[in-house]
Amino acid sequence: MKELKTFPKGGVHPRDHKELTNSIPIRNAPVPSVAVIAMGQHLGSPAKCLVEKGDTVTEGMLIGESSGFISANVHSSIPGKVSKIDRVFLPNGLNSEAIFVELEGEFERSGKEVTRTEWREKTPQELLEMVKEKGIVGMGGATFPTHVKYTVKKGMRVEYFVVNGVECEPYLTADHRLMLEKTDEILEGIEIIRKILNPEKIMIGIEINKPDAIEIMERRIGERGLDFHVIPLKMKYPQGDEKQLLKALTGREVPSGGLPLDIGAVVSNVGTVFSIYEAVVHGKPLIERIVTVTGGAINHPANLKVRIGTRIGDLIDECGGFKETPLKIIAGGPMMGFAQVNLDSPVTKGVSGIIALPREEVKIPRKTPCIQCGKCIRVCPMGLSPTRLYKWIDHQHYEEAVKEGLMDCKECGCCGYVCPAGIPLVQGMRVGKYYARKKKV
Ligand code: SF4
Ligand code: SF4
Repeated sequence: MKELKTFPKGGVHPRDHKELTNSIPIRNAPVPSVAVIAMGQHLGSPAKCLVEKGDTVTEGMLIGESSGFISANVHSSIPGKVSKIDRVFLPNGLNSEAIFVELEGEFERSGKEVTRTEWREKTPQELLEMVKEKGIVGMGGATFPTHVKYTVKKGMRVEYFVVNGVECEPYLTADHRLMLEKTDEILEGIEIIRKILNPEKIMIGIEINKPDAIEIMERRIGERGLDFHVIPLKMKYPQGDEKQLLKALTGREVPSGGLPLDIGAVVSNVGTVFSIYEAVVHGKPLIERIVTVTGGAINHPANLKVRIGTRIGDLIDECGGFKETPLKIIAGGPMMGFAQVNLDSPVTKGVSGIIALPREEVKIPRKTPCIQCGKCIRVCPMGLSPTRLYKWIDHQHYEEAVKEGLMDCKECGCCGYVCPAGIPLVQGMRVGKYYARKKKV
């Protein structure tokens, strides 16, 4: 048998816990009575609020306008009345202006017959404009505005368009279920993106712990007569990181501080591709996403289709609440996600999972001095020395840390995961980057 592809340097193999939800079909979460829709839920400048308290909004209406080159439109996920505009904490810990919409009135889209846009007659520029207009951002967690990613400078050529179906974070199965349940829609989404980017080759990377997704993708590609290549990948975290995925699939390395386009590639997550399909074919803005609600402390783990702005606590209630008091609640995956203290935080476009972990599923190492074991160096996929970087940061020598590659750190968490001394290496990297940027090192 041919050896499966993967990235060559570092990485870890955490237990995946995906069996909790990977065979449960996606179902709709209840419509929230109040949707809290953040203006700063994407990378770049927050959207400019277009409504005032007391305004009536419709489902899918533009309520926040892209405010800069790197920014994205925001739409109302429910019909209703704007009851207030206030600042809220988001699941990633950032504070943002948000519009509170109280449910009221008729749904413009939901439950209505869907119409199809004949997108094949549109130009690449028109399709790109639709992606921008509908507020599409990277849904693997990065939330980078997709229309910016797909704007290829003159003279640059896209050799590879890569669909990221890796979902290597433990517990998460939202992308897996989407590939099984929306295969044809994802494939049509890829055809739309092909028209925008005109790449030479299209690859779909999926780890082999999702054999049913690999099978159905390959079968439907064959039945539809498409020339997309499904590439099964060895399981290894953080393969879903676009730099690692590109290394695994193309053998090419994105240069330090560079972008995938520097090696002729563009990468999009399957969730993003599905949203592009919905935006272009059905004119639907990004007002919903799939969220995996799981972990040993949740009564009935599930994959839910959630309106943006729904409270995290409401999703937990929808899954039967807690069967025991969780020690930790995380938004996103357990390796790169954010610990939650407030269940009132709203779901944003980048929230792929809510994970409630009981005591036995949380590793609580006792912090001791570094024992120089070198494990963190061996697992770092970026080839960094986390122990040295941590020391520089701990002594506030940010310049030295930057010289040794701090800004290349992907915050993947591999180093902290293996450290026997319980040193909070990733938190250290985040702090170091924050101060390095602040001090313009
Ligand atoms: S968090 Fe940063 S330093 Fe640690 S393993 Fe990942 S890339 Fe390397
Ligand atoms: S893994 Fe932890 S103990 Fe080992 S060298 Fe790295 S920081 Fe030190």
